[in-house]
Amino acid sequence: MQDFVYQSAPMRVVFGTGTLRQLPDELSRLGITRVLVLATPRQKDLVAGIREMIGERFAGVFTGAVMHTPVEVTERAMEAMHDVRADCLVAIGGGSTTGLGKAIALRTDLPQIVLPTSYAGSEMTPVVGQTSGGIKTTQSSPKILPQIVIYDVDLTMTMPAGLSATSGINAIAHAVEALYARDRNPVISLMAQEGIGTLARALPIICAQPNDRAARTDALYGAWLCGICLGAVGMALHHKLCHTLGGSFNLPHAETHTVVLPHALAYNAPAAPEAMARIADALGVPDPALGLYDLARKLAAPAALREIGMPEAGIDQAANLAVKNPYWNPRPIERDAIRELIARAWRGEAPQ
Ligand code: NAD
Repeated sequence: MQDFVYQSAPMRVVFGTGTLRQLPDELSRLGITRVLVLATPRQKDLVAGIREMIGERFAGVFTGAVMHTPVEVTERAMEAMHDVRADCLVAIGGGSTTGLGKAIALRTDLPQIVLPTSYAGSEMTPVVGQTSGGIKTTQSSPKILPQIVIYDVDLTMTMPAGLSATSGINAIAHAVEALYARDRNPVISLMAQEGIGTLARALPIICAQPNDRAARTDALYGAWLCGICLGAVGMALHHKLCHTLGGSFNLPHAETHTVVLPHALAYNAPAAPEAMARIADALGVPDPALGLYDLARKLAAPAALREIGMPEAGIDQAANLAVKNPYWNPRPIERDAIRELIARAWRGEAPQ
């Protein structure tokens, strides 16, 4: 075992079914009097229930959260926050809504309570990626980390099978890269292996029967573990590639992760044998890269970057960008091999 440093995040997590009902008590714990609720347009119906539950402490709502946290949207939400003199942000939704809450907290240091409805895992990290002028940049600060996360399985029951599949594989990607992170440690590796196994078992059940509450509970638990991994150790090639592809071609986040993961893992496999063994063990397959590719096929998730909006001419551009700013990866970043990886992912072929 290599030497390690382990630091846990200062955060309170409430997990279960029906836990949304604990929101008033959690607000009291923080001494909150004026809440701004954040959501996406698609999930604005969730706000009425919260309003009823928290009564006078409901100060206002902003339901304009969108993917990739554009700065213009954050500025509009900041106006809403000032108008109602909010002293807390309650974000209910997937990574896009959580991202908006984090972007406001970065600027104001307001406390955040997050109610995740997808498996993205953003609620567990002190990181926000913001888009301005078509460029997405990432920032990290202790102010960004939410104070309280309430995981309520009920909020995930409405997630369509397609989003459940891609969001679940997005979560698995955090754990995969945690297992070969340069700053990995044994506690996070345990969580990573458990997170991968739990999600890989739950997702096929959810995609076949979206109302299976036991599988939904397992998947949310797995997603939480994978989110902890994302917040605790450094990510590598896979996350950098997805960041580049998503930002350059405005590709959907979870789908991009789903397509790229088997290929990024196959690229890193020769340099990360211990991680490969643990992922194989978690998935119950001999070849983890192929196992993840097969899992995505079983879940009817997209297989190719061309299916989700990337132009063929973007392959070279993405390869150039991927090698432009050096970062740590278990295997050195070689341009031709990266280009081949992206080309295979674009065509939707099995990883090699
Ligand atoms: P999302 O939040 O954009 O959700 C996709 C769509 O599904 C939205 O319209 C949303 O309202 C809807 N949705 C979410 N949960 C639902 C549910 N239970 N039922 C019905 N509809 C539901 O997508 P996402 O994949 O959760 O998050 C992606 C965003 O999160 C990206 O911007 C990504 O960069 C960011 N992210 C950031 C971090 C981080 O640590 N900073 C980590 C992961 C993701």
